Amino acid sequence: MSRPAGSPPTVQETLQGAAAAPGVAIGPAVCLRGHGVQVLRVPIRRHDLDREVERFGAAVRTVETELEATENRIAETYGSDLASIFHAHSVILRDSSFARRIDRTIREDRVNAEWAVQSVADDLGEKFAQVKSQHLRERGEDLRDVTRYLLRALAGKKSSPGVGVDFDRNVVVVSHELTPDEVLRLGRHGAVGFAIEVGGANSHTAIVARALDVPLVTGIVDITNRVADDDPVIVDGEEGRFTLHPRPETLELYGVLQRRRRQKEEVLTTAARKLPARSRDGVGVELLANVELPEEFEDVQRFGAAGIGLYRSEFLYLEKSPELPTEEEYLAVVRGLLEALAPQPVVVRTLDLGGGKTARGHDDQEEENPVLGLRGIRLTLARTDIFRSQLRALFRAAAFGNLRIMVPMVTAVEEIRALRALCAQVCSELTTEGIDHRRDVEIGAMVEVPATVLIARQLAAEVDFLSIGTNDLIQYTLAVDRTNEQVTGLYQPLHPAILSMIQLVVEAGRRQPVPVTLCGEMAASPECVPLLLGLGLRELSMSPRNIPLAKEVVRTVDVGDAEELARRCVAASTAGEVRELLAEARASPV
Ligand code: PEP
Ligand code: MG
Repeated sequence: MSRPAGSPPTVQETLQGAAAAPGVAIGPAVCLRGHGVQVLRVPIRRHDLDREVERFGAAVRTVETELEATENRIAETYGSDLASIFHAHSVILRDSSFARRIDRTIREDRVNAEWAVQSVADDLGEKFAQVKSQHLRERGEDLRDVTRYLLRALAGKKSSPGVGVDFDRNVVVVSHELTPDEVLRLGRHGAVGFAIEVGGANSHTAIVARALDVPLVTGIVDITNRVADDDPVIVDGEEGRFTLHPRPETLELYGVLQRRRRQKEEVLTTAARKLPARSRDGVGVELLANVELPEEFEDVQRFGAAGIGLYRSEFLYLEKSPELPTEEEYLAVVRGLLEALAPQPVVVRTLDLGGGKTARGHDDQEEENPVLGLRGIRLTLARTDIFRSQLRALFRAAAFGNLRIMVPMVTAVEEIRALRALCAQVCSELTTEGIDHRRDVEIGAMVEVPATVLIARQLAAEVDFLSIGTNDLIQYTLAVDRTNEQVTGLYQPLHPAILSMIQLVVEAGRRQPVPVTLCGEMAASPECVPLLLGLGLRELSMSPRNIPLAKEVVRTVDVGDAEELARRCVAASTAGEVRELLAEARASPV
């Protein structure tokens, strides 16, 4: 989409959304097309063409089933007239010449199914638009609907199968929504900023943008209809603002802000590397790093982390999908991390796919409620074929440093027992095969679900450490979808229920005793750090970039005072009251 010559002069427009990944990006926009589903042209290798055609076939079958169900439902409720609309959609879908053209486009142009669907639909759509007959023009509308269904179905089966996206570097990508692996691919391909309509600031999409250090704003209403390709735009990931057609003085201002931010980060980082993470009254705190991508591995030392508290190893699977990383590939990555950081600890989380993160090829079963479905430890125990190779690689890597294995989405003690049994089997196999490995690796559980908090005492007796994943714990406790920008305001880390949950887990850890870490985004919030210390936490894991500031805060805290502050916060009635208590404490530091 480009603005026609001679159109009226553009004026600066500022749209407010939510900040999801900090920083400022200035650049021309690339607007991803396609009815709320992005359409990118992705080259497909010759030997993958059959698979791509089959992916399209599977999408057709999905849409057929959905349409049939909708048609029946509508016929029952509203009668056959209305149902005939959906019947017309089915007719287009079953029209073999439409499907054949798409198959041919995939094969001849060697492109992804999404691009082929959109190109064929655009071409036919133009033809429909030119005809005089009202009836045929309506068929054009139907075609657009069918295209949308197909794109949605393809997105459900994961789109963007490869790299090779068609755009210049240094662009700001504007889209209805983006999945974590799309942000990964686009960010690596040179996108300098993202602005999207839907998605929460605590989603994995936002986490990946932060990991890549690419600013992201979300919740910008109707942005895909307001922005045209090449429009100059600014993404302000600090304030959650998006500026379209910035005036020269606005550009100037943002340029200055960008330089200041970098300078401030540099000063903080240099200072943080030299100083210990110790409170004013001498209590030592471990500030660990959360990492997802190889790009961040260097940051662990650069920002002065005491080790890795969470390696979201599923990103290796997302990056490689649809292929699985081999045991050797997985081993090489983990071994590299362990050797680089030894004797510091490296906590590797086992595959946390499912929920918001699906990798193409591993999401065969579509789920109605994936966040309540087969995710984390549930998925891995169900797919021991994948999990075994991961565990083999981990026990082999353990010989090279200080490895700890952490299990996501635990909700029952039996899951830990099943995991331990599998670990024992895998180690026996490695012994029989004469392969070097280390058995005595600590195993920990993530506490991300209210039920898990309530059995934290029993769980603590079965594991070597606990790690509180507040991103999910907040989602499940408050019944607020972390990826839904419409309920962002209800996603409240300071809700007294969340503080009580943290307190319960810390208490369970103390009794056993096993160490307790907190590795959700909450750990990175400077306002929360005194409170978390007051609640008894001594290990916090966060994005490496946040460590210098967290360290600065830790060094100002008196833990005795923080404990008193925490007592008052837990007893508060609302998140607002907690916020006020924290603000008061900041005004007269604890
Ligand atoms: C969490 O849920 O807090 C967590 C650290 O895991 P993730 O954000 O990857 O779900
Ligand atoms: Mg989680």
